[in-house]
Amino acid sequence: MTPKYLVCPSCKTLYEFVASIKSCPRCSAPLFTIYEDLEQVLKKVIVNARERAIQGLGVWSFGELLPTKFIGKSLGEGWTPTVRLEKFANVLGVDILIKNESRNPSGTFIDRGTSIDVQVAYENSFSKIVSASLGDYAISLSVYAKRYEMSVTHYIPRFVEPWKLYMLTLLGDTIVEVEDYPSAVRKASRMSAKNQHYLSIPCSPTVIDGYRTIVFELIQTLQKIDWIAVPVGDGVLATAIFKGLNEIKDVLDIDTPRILTVKLSENSEKTLQKSAEPTLTELSGGIVRNILTTILRDSASHISIERSEVFTIAAQLAELEGIIVDPVGVASLAGVKMATELGIVGRGEKTLVIISGSPSKDSYVLYKIIEHGGKEKLLQRITEGRDATYISNTQKEILKILYEARQCYAYRIWKKLKNLGYNITLQTVHHHLKNLVEKGYVRILGSDGKRLLYTISELGEEYLDKELGT
Ligand SMILES: [Zn+2]
Repeated sequence: MTPKYLVCPSCKTLYEFVASIKSCPRCSAPLFTIYEDLEQVLKKVIVNARERAIQGLGVWSFGELLPTKFIGKSLGEGWTPTVRLEKFANVLGVDILIKNESRNPSGTFIDRGTSIDVQVAYENSFSKIVSASLGDYAISLSVYAKRYEMSVTHYIPRFVEPWKLYMLTLLGDTIVEVEDYPSAVRKASRMSAKNQHYLSIPCSPTVIDGYRTIVFELIQTLQKIDWIAVPVGDGVLATAIFKGLNEIKDVLDIDTPRILTVKLSENSEKTLQKSAEPTLTELSGGIVRNILTTILRDSASHISIERSEVFTIAAQLAELEGIIVDPVGVASLAGVKMATELGIVGRGEKTLVIISGSPSKDSYVLYKIIEHGGKEKLLQRITEGRDATYISNTQKEILKILYEARQCYAYRIWKKLKNLGYNITLQTVHHHLKNLVEKGYVRILGSDGKRLLYTISELGEEYLDKELGT
């Protein structure tokens, strides 16, 4: 049903609900919807939800608790499995359940929010959507927009991984690459205002309401757990879980678990870039700070972890439990480990950990997981017999870079490898290039007197085709 009001959890201002308000006009914080008769609706919906989910309604099994007039189209989002970890939990001495959000249609919890937001756009008679995001949100949004025959223009920072751009290209929507996230939000907002297109961004109240369905699905579990661990990218998921828990606590009088937010310490530098622009840009650039320091200040504990920790956890999760998830998606689990070691989470306490992100098929990412699991020697044994034609992971990445850029100097390849997380010297890149030229995978196009210009050869392209095709 359509909510009556929007309230700012930070400055407490109340607004009439309008779908075009994306954040608090006064203080830029994310806004929460307020529904009439929440108590009655919540009780009624929760009772019937599981049955409606079996009928294929997905996230719409909570229809009356979502900010739309009608029930929208489902692709089977939500109702992801909750699995108890065994060996891994024993190692830590903590009881751990994971809610595996990588099982959503596009591989992340984001589908819960975009499915709702596209329906909101549809009900408000929009046929075009403008969006700003870091890629995962864009993919999810395009997937759902297809169902409504709506087109989307995505504003995305240049540094997002190429595979995300490939997916968006497959989905056929428009991509506009910009400098960074704040300028993506700024340009998308301007574009939507100018052309009267619907603006869909992760921190809006309608998206938050979709994300919070995770909490409603867990209603049976909530009273049995002490903690709910949430990965923090832009912080919107943690905010949504905070909102859902409070709704349940206030209305149903249920004891709810504490929130443990986990963020990657490297990432925080990137997402917290300061911006001089007010309102929406400020919100998106500063949302993590905003949410963590204001809204969740007294009701959550915060953990910040190193990127390398995440790879180690991904390796352990695969070896001990048979679960392979993208390393970024297990940050929350790494956070629980650290929180246990620090005594924030007590031994014997029960934690529900939200993990997200599809299993990675990127050979570099998989290699990094293997390396952190201490198993690179096993891999060497497999690859030794292939020496004559063996292409190392770094060399494969160089081939991919050349394939995408068509032609490159060594310096640019080196820069790109650094951006991908390779800790490598320019000299090593020269060495790899020489080796690839000898193997016939790379050709030298020419020279500007000082530097050589490289391109991928047909043989190199054939090699990549074979690699990617299998
Ligand atoms: Zn406010």
